[in-house]
Amino acid sequence: MAYEFNHYYELQNVQTRKYVNILGNHEDGTVKNGETVNLFARTDNPDQRWALENYGGSGNVRIVLQRGEGWYALNYNVSNANCIVWHLNTAEDTDTVITTIPADGKANTYYFMLRDRSLYLTAVGTSLKWQPYTGGEEQMFTILEPGTGGDGGDEGDVSTVPDSDLVTRFIPAYEGNYTKNRTAQGGVISEITIHHCAGVMTIDSLGALWQRVGREGSSHYGVSETEIGQYVHESDVAWTNGNWEANCRAVTIETSNSGGAPQWPVSDTTFATLVTLVADIARRNGLGKLIKGQNLTWHSMYAATACPGPYLSGKLQELVDRANMINGF
Ligand SMILES: [Zn+2]
Repeated sequence: MAYEFNHYYELQNVQTRKYVNILGNHEDGTVKNGETVNLFARTDNPDQRWALENYGGSGNVRIVLQRGEGWYALNYNVSNANCIVWHLNTAEDTDTVITTIPADGKANTYYFMLRDRSLYLTAVGTSLKWQPYTGGEEQMFTILEPGTGGDGGDEGDVSTVPDSDLVTRFIPAYEGNYTKNRTAQGGVISEITIHHCAGVMTIDSLGALWQRVGREGSSHYGVSETEIGQYVHESDVAWTNGNWEANCRAVTIETSNSGGAPQWPVSDTTFATLVTLVADIARRNGLGKLIKGQNLTWHSMYAATACPGPYLSGKLQELVDRANMINGF
């Protein structure tokens, strides 16, 4: 048995990377019968600390949490199959005795089966329900010493959670149009590269372009009027600058035009949105004061192209100055 009885652990769901968590505010030490148990990113709060209490051997336990004077065990809500807690002394065995079944090939990882109902604790999004066996990762839980697992935040390539709070929508680029894992390529973010779309585009039409198989191009962000699209995570390398080393260093932005050649203008609204995004990227990535041509760059520095066009090229110092002002430089 890889776990010890009567020792507090965090229980991390394998599929979602999130932790078994009792909802609600228990600062006063009171927990009510029937309170919902769900999955949540790690909080370092006692509402995510569970002990496995031996119940007659054979891997049978009750999974309990202590608050104040009370002990509360994972339990089965008979009306909707949700996972709840119930005061240990008044819980029926059929709703609370759990058989821990090791998951093959995964360290300290188990299925939690309600012994008498043959139902398994299952992640349904961030909800926890008792459901028939699937064998999938949604039913696997890793028993961890508190603080030793990941934080359970939304991380990794498959996430569609934007890197910037300013983003309107994350529209993932086709995976053949960028390179995953900037760090693995030896890349460190040290600049922001400005582009124009050479066209009037919405964040959705730009997203559709980057989703096209065989396009072999992408950008991290797109700006059009008040909207910001994200297509590639900053932790991945977008193919925008026509130069591999520059791509590995850069967070890239495509800016919609408001008209065509020869000036390729950009609307004041789009420009103002671009300013806020550049400031946000610079701040989050610790780029410090932006300097045109150093950590604020543009496409034609790296490739034989007219991008970002005459109009935006003439506004780059204003872009730098306004973003610096936002960040207090
Ligand atoms: Zn460009």
